[in-house]
Amino acid sequence: MITADFVIVNANELVTLKGKSDKPQTREELGELRIVRDGAVAARDGRIVAVGTTRQVLDRVEKGCEVVDASGKLVTPGLIDPHVHLIFGGSREEELEQMAVKSVPYLEIKARGGGMPITLKTTAETSTEELLKRTTHVLDTMLIHGTTTVEAKSGYEMTLQGEIRQLEIIKALNETHPVELVSTFMAQGIPVEYADRVDDLTDEVVEKWVPEVAERELAEYCDVFCEKGYFNVAQSKRILEAGRKYGMKPRIHADWLAHSGGAKLGAELNVVSADHLIFTPPGEIDGLVKKGIIGTFLPTTPFCYLGVYAKARDIINRGLPVALGTDLSAADMCESMQMMMTIAILQMRMTTEEALTAATINAAHAIERAREIGSLEEGKKADIIVFDAPNHKYFSYHYGVNLAEKVFKDGELVAERGRRIG
Ligand SMILES: [Zn+2]
Repeated sequence: MITADFVIVNANELVTLKGKSDKPQTREELGELRIVRDGAVAARDGRIVAVGTTRQVLDRVEKGCEVVDASGKLVTPGLIDPHVHLIFGGSREEELEQMAVKSVPYLEIKARGGGMPITLKTTAETSTEELLKRTTHVLDTMLIHGTTTVEAKSGYEMTLQGEIRQLEIIKALNETHPVELVSTFMAQGIPVEYADRVDDLTDEVVEKWVPEVAERELAEYCDVFCEKGYFNVAQSKRILEAGRKYGMKPRIHADWLAHSGGAKLGAELNVVSADHLIFTPPGEIDGLVKKGIIGTFLPTTPFCYLGVYAKARDIINRGLPVALGTDLSAADMCESMQMMMTIAILQMRMTTEEALTAATINAAHAIERAREIGSLEEGKKADIIVFDAPNHKYFSYHYGVNLAEKVFKDGELVAERGRRIG
């Protein structure tokens, strides 16, 4: 017999994603959720200690622990968001409406003085205390929607001190907030004074910022915005190579607004994840496949204003393992991975099973945490969500609401019915 702190029983569907931690899932593997009917999962000291049918688990667990009844419900691993621009000041709802309703292109908004430069300014003007307060609220919202681990990028100040401040905020929140944060230094926006001197900015990033971030041990990854009007391929390459030299593994924003060469560079540098991939030609997708790189789809900007999605069906058929992320940023804000699955299913034509795999175990692979999280298996972290839904197909059927009823992080009940606990 084993002892447990609690056991969740009678789940109509318990989505385990068992046996998928060794490598990212591709093609038909994306459709295999490994569901247990009338399922149960038990946890002790923050770890999963038993998974199976309710009868199997109750037969193994000593009597007397807390029992959570999930009759008629769906139980899954905690959702994982592998792409978030977490720290920023101000908001840009006016320009979002211009892009969405009036079809003003993003680069035109930027040329008019809006877009990222505004956020670099408003973030720099926001106190650390205020940034902590705002970001805590964002993380609370993620948590109550079932997201238990988040990759968090800096990049909204683009000064040495500002980037250090952002990464220190991420570090502080990781120590205090239940959501687990994975930290990324990102060369994102181009400050106005560097608009015509991006090579000079690249020199700064490579020679001063990256070594300083590494010295302070503030980031696990280095990311870059490889896009027209931001960093070109040569500059992106210099930044990611500098990051690697100082121990930060590379990830890349590629082919978001246009074909930028970012995915090709990502394959060349063997990045951990190449993200967006909206305008990536098939041959360059194949280059990522050959290297075993994960492609992370970020459906929010296409949903809000771009109108063009990554070609999910073709990309999956070519064998690329795919993850899903919110890309929450100052440009548009959505904390909900449930919403990402809904868009991926209804607009990108991913199946519900593919979308859920992309939001759990493959998202865990995208941040190299698949041995710890992303599936319900003995020994893994007890990050578990009870959804007020009878089965996983509800992510496309009952949308625009929060279906997460109970959220467990590291074996603690941290949110229930839309409220944070503790
Ligand atoms: Zn992004």
